[in-house]
Amino acid sequence: MRILLVEDDRSLAAGLQAALSREGFAVNHVASGSQALAAVRAELPDMVVLDLGLPDMDGLQVLTALREISRSLPVLLLTARDGADDKVRGLDRGADDYMAKPFDVKELAARLRVIERRLSNTAASSCITVGDLALDTAAHTVTLAEQALELPRREYMLLKALLENAGKVLTRESLEGRLYSWGEEVSSNALEVHIHYLRKKLPQDFIKTVRGIGYTVPRQ
Ligand code: CA
Repeated sequence: MRILLVEDDRSLAAGLQAALSREGFAVNHVASGSQALAAVRAELPDMVVLDLGLPDMDGLQVLTALREISRSLPVLLLTARDGADDKVRGLDRGADDYMAKPFDVKELAARLRVIERRLSNTAASSCITVGDLALDTAAHTVTLAEQALELPRREYMLLKALLENAGKVLTRESLEGRLYSWGEEVSSNALEVHIHYLRKKLPQDFIKTVRGIGYTVPRQ
């Protein structure tokens, strides 16, 4: 899942970016409303975490503008502790959820997973299964024929993206976008290397190469 984090407090943003990427989200960060709108126009993320107190625009104005770009893009608001009116106005303007500052990043991650499950139509469970393989997005565990598989973070994120989109082809660009944040140094064959190591741990032909396009996990 690619999250756009809109937060002008740099130290909070850096902490959230680190914590959420440990939870398996790819987080890109911008620090103003105008940057947020430019980023979303350039490439739609999977969801937006939007601080309401921004330096250049009122956060609710940003929310309204985001809704004009996409009606379905999930938006979670970060509000001030005493911002009860902001919460109501935010929800009325189409926000999906909110967290009042200060908050527990684990709770934020859990709420983002709820949105994620809704997006991938696995609403009742945090578990995605394809054949013998099961990936639990809440527990961050993967099992193959009920045996635990230990995966490094990027391989886990890669497998999660492929399983969430089982039956569809994911392009190289879209997979790279899910694995790396903006500005991260990525070597040209990094994706192939992760695929190579992931395949060694999975049944033969579980991940198929679609030549010239990307990769897919067929539905079973
Ligand atoms: Ca702020």
